[in-house]
Amino acid sequence: MFAYPHLLSPIQVAGAHLPNRMVMGAMHTRLETMDRPHQRLAAFYAARAKGEVAMILTGGYAPVPEGVMDEGGMVLNSEEQLDEHRLITSAVSNAGGKIVLQILHAGRYAKVATCVAPSPGKARINAFAPRALSTEEVWATIESFANTSALAQAAGYTGVEIMGSEGYLINEFTAALTNQRDDEFGGDFERRVRLPIEIVRAVRARVSKDFMVIYRISAIDLMEGGMTGDEVAELARRVEREGADLINTGIGWHESSVPTMAAPVPRAAWIEAIRNVKQAVGIPVMASNRINAPEVAEEIIASGAADLVSMARPLLADPDFARKAREDRADEINTCIACNQACLDRIFTDRVATCLVNPRAGREIEFDDEPTIEPKRIAVVGAGPAGMAFALNAARRGHSVTLFEASAELGGQLNMAKKVPGKNEFNEMLRYFRVSLERAGVVTHLSTPVDAQDLAQRVQAGEFDDVVIATGVSPRRPPIPGIDHPKVVSYLDVLANGAPVGKTVAIIGAGGIGFDVAEYLVGNAQESLAPEAFMNAWGVDTSIVSPGGLKPTRTHPTGRVVHMFQRKPESLGRNLGKSTGWILKAKLRTAKVSNTAGATYDAIDDSGLHVTINGESQVIAVDTVVLCAGQDSNRSLFDELQRAGITAHVIGGADVAAELDALRAIDQATRLAVAL
Ligand code: FAD
Ligand code: NAP
Ligand code: SF4
Repeated sequence: MFAYPHLLSPIQVAGAHLPNRMVMGAMHTRLETMDRPHQRLAAFYAARAKGEVAMILTGGYAPVPEGVMDEGGMVLNSEEQLDEHRLITSAVSNAGGKIVLQILHAGRYAKVATCVAPSPGKARINAFAPRALSTEEVWATIESFANTSALAQAAGYTGVEIMGSEGYLINEFTAALTNQRDDEFGGDFERRVRLPIEIVRAVRARVSKDFMVIYRISAIDLMEGGMTGDEVAELARRVEREGADLINTGIGWHESSVPTMAAPVPRAAWIEAIRNVKQAVGIPVMASNRINAPEVAEEIIASGAADLVSMARPLLADPDFARKAREDRADEINTCIACNQACLDRIFTDRVATCLVNPRAGREIEFDDEPTIEPKRIAVVGAGPAGMAFALNAARRGHSVTLFEASAELGGQLNMAKKVPGKNEFNEMLRYFRVSLERAGVVTHLSTPVDAQDLAQRVQAGEFDDVVIATGVSPRRPPIPGIDHPKVVSYLDVLANGAPVGKTVAIIGAGGIGFDVAEYLVGNAQESLAPEAFMNAWGVDTSIVSPGGLKPTRTHPTGRVVHMFQRKPESLGRNLGKSTGWILKAKLRTAKVSNTAGATYDAIDDSGLHVTINGESQVIAVDTVVLCAGQDSNRSLFDELQRAGITAHVIGGADVAAELDALRAIDQATRLAVAL
């Protein structure tokens, strides 16, 4: 008996027998912009197929050049491209998997000057304004979807997914908000849904019966002027009638002011919108968004809200997710923490995606994970993300690794990150490392601060062949007069040591940690854990009676007045993640946290924080001043070892503190472990 009986039960969809209900969702990676793009894509997808996911959906391919995501984006519109695609389909098939090509016309989200839409309105997230398609061009667009589907079948794909959600072209046609046409493709509901209906009909007519046709519906638009729940259900019924084999669900538009998939969104938050689709149709329905653990997926299917689950980022994080679920080894899953740092944030800034917790993602052909031919005994000092990632990867390659950590727990600064409301998924990263380090045979010594003399002696005595220093960072203490006043604490005092914080607070420094501390002081942890609290805070009408599923927001009392400061004149939070910074800023705005740029810190005393802003001196009367003024490397151990003539490697924050994050720490550590 499997631990997840519903998730692991087979299902037949069109001509495909799927051995389980786990599907890798479509994800734009921009791998196509790198060298050897098709080899990279083939290796990327084959690794997931090998990991036993039942089916993979590719990132979106446009059916016409003006529908690409961005300049140089992926298009499938000619037979000359088929050999490249056969590299991908055969790699997946050889690995025992199935792959479906997603057809995505980006509409007014296409970051190209030639972008098109139902009507001329520009999206606020795109610099380019679209041109409205003529009626003839709409018919040509329908034909282009059919053409791409026929090509996909010829290339050996199992099926196609027609992307009808997230605010791309088809979704722009279905919502009155973006469709002001008065031809046969705009006006009332009948005419607004005509485009997806005609596309499904045209695609079905051009491919064989066993070739899978998936339609991805926008289950809830989260845009004023979007569809109601009844309209979504009616569209689903019509799509089924035209011959779709499976309906996938999408949540919100890219420009929605409600977060849909970042870490502050509770797991499986959108299940009621998905259930609305499921109840409308007889064909299978697939759930998506914030499903990152087998038990969550199992519960969705067991509850009858959907038949399959689509997981995109979780498969980036762990290609072996499905196999580990089957083998009841869920505690070894490298869980997606929904940070978006290495995937969406990179895509949104024109870079290639990878994954914070898995640097191999999208870089499969760069990593040689062969066992070492020269096993070494390695001492690793510091069990933050850098030390843990190095120790795990080195041990997996056959080295004998001993990990020393000064504090009583693994994780370093991640133990502070996990306490911030909306960052509870960091607990999963810590669980993954704890379990995996043990199973890989790493000998761990907690509560064991290492000093240079002792370590040097042990190396000289032949106990270790190599040393890796991952001692991380410490909070910076800027030389402000009064910095030793009792009302001054650091983020470490607050988050790690539970230092008391008063009702009025000034935060010095507005980087990622300053913003996180502000959220810790005023935030409501429930909003990222309990769907109801989340929906109230962000104004989501789960009954979807209102067009788009929005309602007024409800705020919670914070009980604290918080002021944030930085010295730079630019607006605060400019370097926060592109896909998550706006969420944090919106939450702090709701909690009335004030932002001041261009501050000079003059002094701290009993009356509060003395600052000069625009040449004017002020006293900010506060009970507590929290220092979030950046960090310095803990390098003394490394420097002392060098002086003692011991060569060592230094990684993570101990190497470079500036612009350090867990992404860089893990990537650097993993690459060193593969190279040793
Ligand atoms: P550290 O995490 O500092 O770990 C170093 C370890 O070495 C510590 O456990 C320390 O006890 C140990 N050590 C030090 N000296 C010795 C010694 N002599 N002997 C034995 N052990 C020793 N990053 C992100 O990417 N995304 C985020 O969302 C994010 N959020 C954050 C939120 C907060 C509140 C904080 C504080 C940090 C956040 N970070 C985030 C930053 C991230 O946690 C750090 O970049 C990362 O932890 C640095 O990793 P590291 O291994 O180099 O160092
Ligand atoms: P940071 O982003 O470098 O911010 C440091 C802040 O301190 C800045 O606002 C800086 O602004 C101020 N500062 C620097 N030196 C100062 C001084 N001498 N006196 C007073 N103020 C000073 O660093 P961080 O906030 O400590 O974060 C560390 C790393 O963790 C970041 O690089 C970040 O990537 C990562 N992190 C990421 C997230 C995330 O969500 N992705 C969250 C938390 C942390 P001014 O110089 O303008 O005053
Ligand atoms: Fe998940 Fe973060 Fe990795 Fe993206 S970068 S897949 S959100 S863990």
